[in-house]
Amino acid sequence: MDNLEARQAMVRYAHMLYAHKYAVGTAGNMSMKLDDGTFLATPTGSSFGFLNTEDVSHIDASGNLLSGKKPTKEIFFHLACYEVHPEITAVVHLHATYATLLASCEGLADGVPIKPFTPYFVMKVGAVGILPYRKPGDPAIADDVREKRAYTSLLMANHGFIVCGKTLADAVSAAEEFEETAKLWYLGQSLPIRYLTEGEMKNLKTNFS
Ligand code: ZN
Repeated sequence: MDNLEARQAMVRYAHMLYAHKYAVGTAGNMSMKLDDGTFLATPTGSSFGFLNTEDVSHIDASGNLLSGKKPTKEIFFHLACYEVHPEITAVVHLHATYATLLASCEGLADGVPIKPFTPYFVMKVGAVGILPYRKPGDPAIADDVREKRAYTSLLMANHGFIVCGKTLADAVSAAEEFEETAKLWYLGQSLPIRYLTEGEMKNLKTNFS
């Protein structure tokens, strides 16, 4: 995907995530890895709803600005994701409502923060690593990402989530699935949910152990 095509895709997905209220205000950011090893990212202090192709930040692998506006202040943990997962080309980070509520619960453990009850969460999001609470912008978040390299989906305590994808479409679709499943989890708390069995989960061929 060339630079302009990638910018256009990023703008389209940003508008869609904003329209569906997965991203509100200036919260959330996303990035893409281009074929030449440089990156695109949403700009700092920007709204997904008003993103345009000229504003998208184009940066090198060290985070230096090549064109567009200054990238999100959270770019450092996106770069850590690309470093530990060479197979990915996109990262989406959201503070979506229900997932952030889940991220703010006590006692979260790596693997299954939501006991699986829908196949799509298992297939699209997979196992989830838990990152400890950090002040937003703390560069230590990049080290946390490196430490949890076994996971391409991460829940950030009291903050939100990060999902990686082989393509931007994959990462966006995993992000939507993450938020919608967190919503189902919240709405279903007093219902007699039938959870997926170990066998059913294994059958979905995921990285769940
Ligand atoms: Zn954030």
